[in-house]
Amino acid sequence: MPYDKYETVIGLEIHVQLATRSKAFCGDDASFGGEPNTHISPISLGHPGTLPRLNKKQVEYAVRLGLALGSRINLTNAFDRKNYFYADLPKGYQITQDRQPICIGGQLNISVGEEQKNVRIHHIHMEEDAGKSMHDAGEDYSRIDLNRAGVPLLEIVSEPDLRSAEEVDAYMSAMRQLVRYLGISDGNMEQGSMRCDCNVSVRLKGSEKLGERCEIKNLNSMRYARRAIDYEVKRQVDLLEAGGRVEQQTLNFDPVTGVTAPLRDKEDAHDYRYFPEPDLPPVVLTPEYVEKVRQGLPALPWEIHERLLSEYGLPDYDTNLLADEQPTALFFLELAQHTANFKAAANLIINKIMPYCNDTGTAITAFPVSHSQLAAFIQLIDEGKVANAVAYQHIFPVMVEHPERPPLEIAQSLNLIQTSDEGLLEKLVEEVLANNADEVERYRKGKKGLMGFFMGEVMKVSKGKADPKVVSGLLRNKLG
Ligand code: ADP
Ligand code: MG
Repeated sequence: MPYDKYETVIGLEIHVQLATRSKAFCGDDASFGGEPNTHISPISLGHPGTLPRLNKKQVEYAVRLGLALGSRINLTNAFDRKNYFYADLPKGYQITQDRQPICIGGQLNISVGEEQKNVRIHHIHMEEDAGKSMHDAGEDYSRIDLNRAGVPLLEIVSEPDLRSAEEVDAYMSAMRQLVRYLGISDGNMEQGSMRCDCNVSVRLKGSEKLGERCEIKNLNSMRYARRAIDYEVKRQVDLLEAGGRVEQQTLNFDPVTGVTAPLRDKEDAHDYRYFPEPDLPPVVLTPEYVEKVRQGLPALPWEIHERLLSEYGLPDYDTNLLADEQPTALFFLELAQHTANFKAAANLIINKIMPYCNDTGTAITAFPVSHSQLAAFIQLIDEGKVANAVAYQHIFPVMVEHPERPPLEIAQSLNLIQTSDEGLLEKLVEEVLANNADEVERYRKGKKGLMGFFMGEVMKVSKGKADPKVVSGLLRNKLG
């Protein structure tokens, strides 16, 4: 297989749309959607004589991300003009940072299967988004919506450290998780709040020199990114194996055909005629400002992850699920203040609370039952008053409907309290053994595995209420 001889090398440029209320350089509404061309003003429309004014939140969010990734914050950074003509870019240029970006360096740790690796960040810069053009089939004109024009973006440029579509997926997911934890973006790929350009090249394994790369533009779904990368790697290897060479190109991926096709090649590559933005002074930050932003950082995903593992002793599997989204992690940490049984708390969240929130479209922060009531629910099981399965199946749904009712009271009213009354349980055990004489005989002849069957039968006739410890003692006794 020729493909095995080659190594894939990928560097990513991720665009993250920031969750600010207003746009990067004016007060227009920056939220997603809206009737076309309603989030606009003379500034978004690029009218002559209008002037940009920097959004402080954009700077703060950039610094937050830079600090989280361990970047160096460029205390003096500056904006440039990137000039090109396009209908959804009314000014005729995009304000971006070219020579002096706000963050330099840094890294993000990703895990792929059992492997961990650091992906180095080259830099992060601030810029503004363009508007949206819609070229609908069947219409002999295009439509322009400028609601998105001027919305603040961060572009995160990685070093070419990624080696497969799986690593790209892990890196994108980790970045998405981070920006959501930081509260700087919703990371919503479907709505375009996060999209990436994938720079892909291949080289013979063992070779130090990077191959010629192609850049696949504007991938807004991980599924597309995977398919685009797989297609592109195969295309480049086939080309090299046939004695050709890869040309540096900008490509578009068509999800319908699954094929990448050139948008433009090096020869007609844009000359953006970058020059310093004359209408915005350089951004000058003080070390005190950066320190203040650092103080305001929340616990980061990997810190939460580590706490859940080492401080709360949870298994990896639980940790991944709980730390995935910050509100879920905070929910666990809060519940852990009310109970000492951390594993039971994790189980309850993973097996009941998260599915409930999913099914009903409820945010976990709006989950109706209080942490103390949930802790009482866990205690009910721990004290042996109600079997775990019974509590999950019968008490939990009632708690969700009636959050004010204490779980013990629910258990009592539904007649679910487990019984350890030996007299009563002995009768049930005798009844079960009498009804299953054949099994008793087989058990006595050595088929010890039938113990589970007897246990199950007794639980069944007790409607789940028998204390399993007492029952197992009684069974052992009677069976000899
Ligand atoms: P430009 O600004 O022209 O797009 P850069 O050199 O800044 O180019 O690189 C942009 C992205 O391309 C970075 O993420 C970088 O890691 C990646 N990249 C650069 N060279 C290669 C290569 N040979 N193979 C894969 N990715 C590359
Ligand atoms: Mg680029």
